[in-house]
Formats: sequence, structure tokens, C-alpha cells
Amino acid sequence: MSVLIVGGAGYIGSHAVDWFCENNYEVVVVDNLSTGHKDAINKKAKFYEGDLRDKSFMRRVFDNEVIDGVIHFAAFSIVPESMKKPLDYYDNNVYGMNVLLEIMNEYSVKNIVFSSTAATYGEPKQIPIKETDPQVPTNPYGETKLAMEKMMHWADTAYGIKFVALRYFNVGGAKPDGSIGEDHNPETHLTPIVLDVAHGTRNELTIFGNDYDTTDGTNVRDYVHVMDLAEAHRLAFEYLKAGNDSNAFNLGSSTGFSNLQIVEAARKVTGKEIPTKIGPRRPGDPSTLIADSTKARTVLNWKPKYDNVEKIIQDAWTWETKNPSGYGDK
Ligand code: UDP
Repeated sequence: MSVLIVGGAGYIGSHAVDWFCENNYEVVVVDNLSTGHKDAINKKAKFYEGDLRDKSFMRRVFDNEVIDGVIHFAAFSIVPESMKKPLDYYDNNVYGMNVLLEIMNEYSVKNIVFSSTAATYGEPKQIPIKETDPQVPTNPYGETKLAMEKMMHWADTAYGIKFVALRYFNVGGAKPDGSIGEDHNPETHLTPIVLDVAHGTRNELTIFGNDYDTTDGTNVRDYVHVMDLAEAHRLAFEYLKAGNDSNAFNLGSSTGFSNLQIVEAARKVTGKEIPTKIGPRRPGDPSTLIADSTKARTVLNWKPKYDNVEKIIQDAWTWETKNPSGYGDK
């Protein structure tokens, strides 16, 4: 029996593949390598290169393998890009989920763990955000992820496919030995950009807005280590295999850091100056996002091990200094 990890060559997916392999699961990876990297996939996993939306390709995978459950990471995930290309997001994310659930139903695979996001909440009514809070996305990325959650809900009602939606807040860090890490092209996320500046591959960081209603005027986000996320997926998979009901969990550290505080922490970790300038607000950015992740801690028994932002930056820095051009394939 294997766990199928769709999108297992991407940043978070590859850390989950690695973690499942290290914990002796049989892992099958599906990825079209549009943004992922073949070298990021743990060699113990069996890899099928192809597109989730290609039904005949997906049927081949399900014919060849005995799939016990699915972990789904294969989605576009960049807020500003989603504002410019919303239909690409609906096609890849929503239609991709449609095909996946259809094939799972065809092959009677009943469990799915899904990468959802804090972006499904939009501009929060209260901080910290609870799973029961209203989900009103402010950008197409969040809209597609919310639609995907709802599709799983109705597929559960109709076909009995159980799901766990893991709503991530801001993910950072890398496997501590620096062998896998974050490599997007172009990079849009704050911590890797900050570390590119520290490393000298970029001249400066533009901070998107300093007139938000926060302590220093810059956006506040809640950072969680990618290895802790990987473990949360394993726990969610086991939760479903134990016969529990569909559920949604926030995954964050429950502590907020402003963009300026992230830069300060990176200066401390790297010992570099990291020049910054203030630019305009980035469309679609909520002011503050902080998770209440009590539910994941109590129901899934999730115990984040790397619960501090300097460790997240340190591990990302180890990856960056060992692999200044990332995987070097794009
Ligand atoms: N950000 C920034 N400059 C950059 C990239 C990101 O100021 O070059 C800010 C962004 O506006 C947000 C925070 O960093 O307030 C985190 O953004 P990121 O894209 O990393 O993650 P998101 O919150 O969109 O998931």
C-alpha cells in the first residue's frame, strides 16, 4: 500500500515526501515539474511525471499502484500571480481537484489530505484566526483553495471520501541538513528573498507597504517550519486512516512577525546588512494573519518542533548557502 503525494516535487511536497520516506511509508509521487524539481524528490519514492488534470495518465498511476490515500500539494500558490491570471488558477487548482476526486472515487480511495491556506480566510475579523471563522478570500488564489475545500466536502457527502484540509499560514525553513529547500522561479516569498539579499544575489528587499494598522506598519504573518508541516501531513493521514471524520486544521505557530521583524531576525542569523526600501502595498495582502492552531495540537496531537522564527531562517539560510542556484534546473 502506498501513499500518493501529488505535487511531491514542490517546496512543501518534497519535504513531505522526504518525511514519509524517512518514516518508512511507501511513497508514490505525481508531479508535472511545472514548478517542482526532480532532484527534490527523495530517491526512495516512485516518481510518475505527468499532469494531474490528465485523466488517462492518472488512471495509469492508479492501475499500477495500490493507493491507500492521497496527499495533495499540486496547486499554483502565488497571490500576486493569481490576481493577474485568475483563470489559470481555476484551471490548475479547481479542475485539478475535480479530476483527482473523480479518479479517487473511481478507484475507491477514501482519504485525502489537502494543502489549504490561511488565504481562505481573507481579511480576518479576529486574531488569532480559528477554523470556524468566516472564509472570505481577498484573492483568486484563496478563492480556488476555498473552492477545493468545498469540493472535498461535497465529495465526502456523496462518495464518502474523507478529507483533512490543512490551512497553512506562512511556511519557511528547509530540511535542516540543507539537502532540500525552497526554489521558486521567480521567487516571490519574503524569507527566500530576504536571504537572497543577504547572500548578495539580489541588491535589496522591497517591503510592500508600511502603512498597515500594525505595530510597525508592515504586514504581520505567522511562520511555520516546513518540517513541522510535513509531520502535520503524516498525522493527518494517520487520523484519516484511523477512521476519523473529515476536518480542517490551522497550522501556524500562533505568533505574529512583521515583515520588518523578519528582516531583523535574518540580519541576526546571517550577520549581513540586508538593505531594504519601502514600496507600495501589494494587492490582495491582508494586514495581519495569525493562526489559532490549538485544534491541530489537541486533535492531531501536532507538536511543532521548530517553533521559532530564527530556526526557520537558519535552516533556510543553510539551504541557500549550500545551494545558491537552488536545484539549478530552471
Ligand atoms: N513581502 C514583501 N516583499 C517581498 C515579498 C513579500 O514585503 O518581496 C511581504 C508580503 O507583502 C507579505 C509578506 O511579505 O506581507 C509575506 O508574503 P509572502 O509572499 O512570503 O507570503 P504570503 O503571505 O503571500 O503567503
